[in-house]
Amino acid sequence: MADILVTSESGALIIDGKAASAAVLDEVAKGAAELIAAGIRPGLAVVLVGEDPASQVYVKSKGKAAETCGFHSVQHTLPVETPQADLIALVQKLNSDPAIHGILVQLPLPKHIDSQLVLETIAPAKDVDGFHPVNAGLLAIGDRKRALVPCTPAGSLILLQKAMDALGRPIAGCDAVVVGRSNIVGKPMAQLLLAESATVTIAHSRTKDLASVVKRADIVVAAVGIPEMIKGDWIKKGAVVIDVGINRVAGEGLNAKGEPKTRLVGDVDFAGAVKHAAAITPVPGGVGPMTICMLMSNTLTAARRAKG
Ligand code: NAD
Repeated sequence: MADILVTSESGALIIDGKAASAAVLDEVAKGAAELIAAGIRPGLAVVLVGEDPASQVYVKSKGKAAETCGFHSVQHTLPVETPQADLIALVQKLNSDPAIHGILVQLPLPKHIDSQLVLETIAPAKDVDGFHPVNAGLLAIGDRKRALVPCTPAGSLILLQKAMDALGRPIAGCDAVVVGRSNIVGKPMAQLLLAESATVTIAHSRTKDLASVVKRADIVVAAVGIPEMIKGDWIKKGAVVIDVGINRVAGEGLNAKGEPKTRLVGDVDFAGAVKHAAAITPVPGGVGPMTICMLMSNTLTAARRAKG
């Protein structure tokens, strides 16, 4: 626990996502070794269409993490002009490949491709991103034993649970506010909190007086995509804050190439919020590192289920 939570000057616990992610990866590698000994090597296929630089970085780190865990890892890189039918055919081929237990199609896809159709082509049992309507439905009915849960909310819940355990508080009964209602973060996060018996409010772009909604929360999860929009004085004294946002903003000075420096910030004004929160995730180094380790965890789960 000590390596996952450190105390800040203001007394708030800072939740270390890198340490938590390393611990999850360690567990996944152990689980994979057991499965390999039983004759099944977990297999992850990552499909990238086009050359979006950010997507290339994500795909590379996913492949690296899969290899670290001892998985069979394959990457399919297709040209940006790939017809939708070809991508669908590849997904169908991966669906029927017994060496592959997890399939991830990196988003965003080029504009001529219907992303939802592609995601719905992935067999739900191999949908390690957890975006297929079958998995969204299983999560909504509280069947986590059969669902594959989207990685970022699943990782956020682990960090939240660690903070709550350290504070000696249950999640059950807490007022939780999730800011953002996307299908990949906000909605599944709200479902997970509901399953933990929190009283959940989902706030979004049309919410009136967001400051007062956030102010009543014992748990705040921010997934908006607007740099530091949740202000420090919106945070109730003693609340736990999970900041999912990753926003690149202008930094100070120039980098080695003579270009203006940039830095990453979350959706929460960290410097202000840390004065009020009992525990908070930093950006970078909070929720960010959890996404990839949860992808590995989902792949292991899918492989275990395939083995029965
Ligand atoms: P999205 O754009 O799909 O959804 C944003 C949500 O914020 C929407 O539901 C919208 O209603 C809400 N919103 C917009 N403006 C608002 C306002 N003024 N007040 C209240 N709500 C408002 O974004 P997303 O994919 O859910 O991602 C959210 C953030 O999380 C982004 O910063 C993204 O980079 C980050 N993210 C991080 C990870 C990770 O690995 N840590 C993974 C996915 C997304």
